[in-house]
Amino acid sequence: MTDLATLQQQLIHFRDDRNWKQFHTLKNLIISLNLEAAELLELTQWKTDAELAALKSDSRFREQLQDECADVLLYLLQVASDAGIDLLQAAENKMQKNALRYPIGQAYGSAKKHTELNPATTGSSDTPHRPDK
Ligand SMILES: [Mg+2]
Repeated sequence: MTDLATLQQQLIHFRDDRNWKQFHTLKNLIISLNLEAAELLELTQWKTDAELAALKSDSRFREQLQDECADVLLYLLQVASDAGIDLLQAAENKMQKNALRYPIGQAYGSAKKHTELNPATTGSSDTPHRPDK
């Protein structure tokens, strides 16, 4: 199993071997990340939750899902590398923020956004996992 730092180094070598650094600006990487996320989203287009649940055991669909997840991760790693972000640390920090925003006593079984749970908590408008919205 490769760790994130090793994967980032492999990506840099892949990019540099092809002289692509000139194209991999932060803006272009973020655009590419979002395009890959859209390709991931496209796999769900016009399908119900039940259809998608059934497709998880379909080898062709699984390969498509795996490929698009990998594309998103690879661009995210490049964005983080370009911006000098330690992704694992950033994720840990964000989980700590989310724990404060979504106290178990208020958020348990609820799909409400943190601002609806506790109006005193305000912050960025990002939306963590919301199971039924
Ligand atoms: Mg793709």
